[in-house]
Amino acid sequence: MKSTTTSSRAGSAKRVAKAASQRGAKSAGNPPTIAPYVRKILLDLGEDPDRDGLKRTPERFDRAMRYLTSGYGKTVAEVVGKGVFEQETDEMVIVKDIELYSLCEHHLVPFYGKAHVAYLPDRKIVGLSKVARLVDLFARRLQVQERLTSQIARALEEAVEPKGVAVVIEAAHLCMMMRGVEKQNSVTVTSCMLGRFRSDEKTRAEFLQLVYRGGSR
Ligand SMILES: [Zn+2]
Repeated sequence: MKSTTTSSRAGSAKRVAKAASQRGAKSAGNPPTIAPYVRKILLDLGEDPDRDGLKRTPERFDRAMRYLTSGYGKTVAEVVGKGVFEQETDEMVIVKDIELYSLCEHHLVPFYGKAHVAYLPDRKIVGLSKVARLVDLFARRLQVQERLTSQIARALEEAVEPKGVAVVIEAAHLCMMMRGVEKQNSVTVTSCMLGRFRSDEKTRAEFLQLVYRGGSR
């Protein structure tokens, strides 16, 4: 008898959880718009949100922000999909100069630049376009450059299980360039080295040499 009671309680707990997740799914499918808040912001900034140029700005901003933060809705597995292949190779793979656009989470202002991503395969390789899509997966969120760098590295490590991963990001932050210290030419460089790139100085040096060879900077 006791076990019956327990299981029926568990059952009702499950039903409650299911109902809650269905509500969650519903609101995720039809997210509330942020447009009314944008209208309020325009008013607070002293603007007239009803003038022609601004009339549709709240809706446009809503759509733009949803796109710019669309990385929240996806997982590493979804992005990589069937893009991982068995391959006997232990040569370093480098994808450099991947365009990168993200939003600083402190000011909601863009930072942009390029990412250089490398890995040392261990019987598995990943389609090169997937590397770029992994960058977008995390760039299309509210970010700090340091976290973005390590998230890309960890995602590649998870997807390919390589002997090592290296990610370097060089980016310019509009929040620094347009306001604050107003340093127009400063570039922030962050790196994350995992596995052999961290433990073996030669591997790391080879990566950096291949990335910066040819005087791209
Ligand atoms: Zn900022």
